[in-house]
Amino acid sequence: MEKSLAFALAQDQTDELASFRSLFHFPKHAGKPVVYFCGNSLGLQPITAKDAVLQELEDWANLGVEGHFAGRNPWLHYHKLLTAPTARLVGAKPHEVVVMNNLTVNLHLLMVSFYRPNTKRYKILMEGGAFPSDQYAVESQVKFHGFEPDNAIVELVPRAGEHTLHTSDITAKIHELGDTLALVLLGGVNYYTGQAFDMQAITAAAHSVGAKAGFDLAHAAGNLLLELHDWKVDFATWCSYKYLNSGAGGTSGVFVHEKYAQDNTLPRFAGWWGHNEQERFLMKKGFQPMYGAEGWQLSNAQILPMAVHKASLEIFDKATLPKLRAKSLRLTAFTEFLIEAFNAEQEQVKINILTPRNPTERGCQLSLVFDTKGKAIHQELTAAGIVADWREPNVIRIAPVPLYNSFEDVWRFYEILKNITLS
Ligand SMILES: *Cc1c(COP(=O)(O)O)cnc(C)c1O
Repeated sequence: MEKSLAFALAQDQTDELASFRSLFHFPKHAGKPVVYFCGNSLGLQPITAKDAVLQELEDWANLGVEGHFAGRNPWLHYHKLLTAPTARLVGAKPHEVVVMNNLTVNLHLLMVSFYRPNTKRYKILMEGGAFPSDQYAVESQVKFHGFEPDNAIVELVPRAGEHTLHTSDITAKIHELGDTLALVLLGGVNYYTGQAFDMQAITAAAHSVGAKAGFDLAHAAGNLLLELHDWKVDFATWCSYKYLNSGAGGTSGVFVHEKYAQDNTLPRFAGWWGHNEQERFLMKKGFQPMYGAEGWQLSNAQILPMAVHKASLEIFDKATLPKLRAKSLRLTAFTEFLIEAFNAEQEQVKINILTPRNPTERGCQLSLVFDTKGKAIHQELTAAGIVADWREPNVIRIAPVPLYNSFEDVWRFYEILKNITLS
């Protein structure tokens, strides 16, 4: 790697995914597209999203209720249009995934089925400082079953002086908890540190003590190569509006491993859209779940958010995840390289990267701690057209996203950062 604009431009020139940038709307700053490093929070809008939504609005206007059957994409089966691309995205078989609801709702629905504590086995292992919604979901589930959160929730914390977790410490804790452990629930990538967990090893450890393993993939879906089926993950869920670019509050995806596809002994909170579809409209008593993940659906499909998601997933299918991941590794490595160069060439500000240095333990995001003036620097970056995200108490998260960020973006970030701190 080289510390030069010419090097960045040369990388962009030979990048076979470079043209995907033109498929997205970029907010503008002073007449120029911003450097958008916030795809881990809200992905950019695919240009095709608008027509996808308009098509459904038109079908609704022209067909009314008949849109369920006569629409160009009949709404009755709309969620099924998302199944194959979603399965490709997370390494699942098609009947292991379904798109429905929102992330935290799905986390609850899945815990209803997969967190089934008894007086002996009732503990949940999660990351210390997990995303608040996950903390609240777990806390309320534990209480719902009559347990005390302080006793039932076990949090993993880094070793003294470190910021991220060792896989061996996670699996050791799983073995220590043994037959008191009901569920391991971790992010696939921690939202704060950007650490990617070894889901396969963690799942194997959980199963070896008789516990279930579930993952919140909000920061992993569309970011990492996932093989949920082969890793034998019990369940997972993710949102669609971060790396999956499907709009604020967009719909969510769910994975339930095939081994539960016909397991009618699992408790679940049911609704008509999860009922045997041949009989869905017979309005009969007695819930019979559909085969696989579809059997967890409650309500009829949210067509407008799903239309955006469909448009976005089409882009992922064209780019393909292996190519995105390969570019992502290079793009994030270049970002890290320039941050180290920045540290080496001046004395005023030092940036500590919280995210693991090992590329297999991270996605595209780097979480940066500034030893001084972090918040002020974030404000100045923003004023200079860099969209990055500030997280209390002192972290700037930047996510160079391989789908629409360029090596030149990373170079611009570095130059602006230097100008701010040296001025
Ligand atoms: C973004 C995010 C959420 C947000 O949940 P919603 O139900 O979509 O509002 C939850 N958990 C994690 C880990 C996240 O990163």
